[in-house]
Order: sequence, then structure tokens, then C-alpha cells
Amino acid sequence: MNSAAKVLKPSFCQTASAFLVVDGKILLIKHKKLGAWLSPGGHIDAGELPHEAAEREFFEETSIRVRSVGTTADQNVLPVPFKSGLHWVCEENYQRRDQNLPPLEKWSRGCEQHFDLAYVVEPVGDLEFKKNDEETDGIAWFTLEEIENLDTFEDVKRSIKMAFSYAKTHR
Ligand SMILES: [Zn+2]
Repeated sequence: MNSAAKVLKPSFCQTASAFLVVDGKILLIKHKKLGAWLSPGGHIDAGELPHEAAEREFFEETSIRVRSVGTTADQNVLPVPFKSGLHWVCEENYQRRDQNLPPLEKWSRGCEQHFDLAYVVEPVGDLEFKKNDEETDGIAWFTLEEIENLDTFEDVKRSIKMAFSYAKTHR
């Protein structure tokens, strides 16, 4: 038998996120658990398409109804995410799983990494937002210039910049 140490592969959840850019500004929420400004998003539910999850999460976290850019009446042609990526949510959960410990209470679903599909969305109705007090500590519009000094992760800043340029060319 080969005695090579087994290497536990990080697990990932499938998530979707929504980026709304209107008149040169993007709407972001301050995530309670992560303490950072992010685009609305979350886990894709069973039976849900990724862009549907992005639209639902956006509504739940902002009260604004949106649809993904590129939505058509043809089910064979679904909206295309402008980015897909894999990032750590809770590396400690990964180490704990390796030690047969339960996940942290903060991330009780056992989140380790998230495989995220990111969509640029457009408003369906009015733009009046409402803060979701349960999940967020803030909600606000930001210009591209303000993103540089935003309290968030570098990867998120990169995604936001990509969303601004995608929104400019696809709407
Ligand atoms: Zn997760």
C-alpha cells in the first residue's frame, strides 16, 4: 500500500452574485458576517438556475427587483455571467473538517470555498432600496473611483471593476 498522506480537498458551495450599475454607480451591501462591502449574492438553492439565484439574493438584500443582463425569452439561451471564480469563505472550516470537528457556528453550513457565478443585472422597477437588517450592516451606491478605498477584499474590487466595464458595453 502507498502510505502517502491523504490530502483533503477543500469543499465548495455553488453561489451566484449580482452587480447593479446605474448612472456610473454600483449598489453594494456591507455583509454582516464578513464585515466587508460586497455585491449581493448567496447560495444557489436546489432547482434554481444560477442567474435566478443572483436575482433572488439581490432582491432579498436590497428590495430592488432586477433581471440579469442578457435575459431572453429563449430558455436555450441563458444570461452569461461576466465572471466565475473560486474563493475562500472559511479556511478554518476546512481545517476543522480535516480534524473531524464540526463547522464554526458562524458558518454553520460548513462553507469552505465558494464557486461563484457573477452577473451584471438591470433594474426591473424602481430603484428605492431597503436595508436587510438581518444580513447587512449597510447599503449604498459607490462610484468606480470610490471602490479603490472601499473596505473589502482585493478580489471583490477586481470583480466590481469588471462589472463596471461589462455594464458599459452590454447595456
Ligand atoms: Zn457556502
